[in-house]
Amino acid sequence: MYRQAAELIVNAKRVTAFTGAGISVESGIPPFRGESGLWNRYDPALFEINYFMSNPEECWGMIKELFYDIFGEVRPNLAHYALHEMEMNGHLSAIVTQNIDNLHHEAGSRNVYEFHGNSRKLVCLNCRRKARVGETDLGVLPPSCGRCGGLLKPDFVFFGEPIPEAAEKGAAREAERSDVIIVIGTTGTVKPACHIPFIAKESGASVIEVNTEPSAYTRRITDIFLKGRATDEMEMLTETLYSAG
Ligand code: ZN
Repeated sequence: MYRQAAELIVNAKRVTAFTGAGISVESGIPPFRGESGLWNRYDPALFEINYFMSNPEECWGMIKELFYDIFGEVRPNLAHYALHEMEMNGHLSAIVTQNIDNLHHEAGSRNVYEFHGNSRKLVCLNCRRKARVGETDLGVLPPSCGRCGGLLKPDFVFFGEPIPEAAEKGAAREAERSDVIIVIGTTGTVKPACHIPFIAKESGASVIEVNTEPSAYTRRITDIFLKGRATDEMEMLTETLYSAG
């Protein structure tokens, strides 16, 4: 299985990885959905854009606790680093991620399409200027824009907001051009991001899937299913890839 997957990757002109919450779980970020998911502990309404604009102080209290106090210290894991290594070695062209945790960037990956934005940046809802979280004073909530005083919002996609156009178009273009897509740690249920592997498949790509459980892709489009944790499977895959040359 690993050998087959490695051969597909070696023989491909372009390989894209499509990642979801499952790749970051081992970094200590629980998924939003599912039994132990964050939505059972935090009210999703707080991430609804109109509610946020009407109640920024309430929403920001929870946002700061969750994203900047609890998740502020998380680090990339072996699976993130494996993808970085593949990019460095010319075996990976792009990453399309549904995650907002910035861990692909922190692992060193360069060509990353963040379908749902990035929690490590803030955006001013008035002038659209972006700022890094580390450069922003979160002592007084809600934080305001250093240039115009407008309300700052984390630069990830809230419910009721559109997907960033550049990320959505770029991700679809990468999927269309890929010969192989590696699906890692996603159930394939969040629209419209979940379409990306299907776009790749329809454009002729082979699908390698790394998941602990079968997903919406497994029986429909997956060619090689590597069942297990993202770190273990990506380590096995890259070991096979580099021992095979
Ligand atoms: Zn501003």
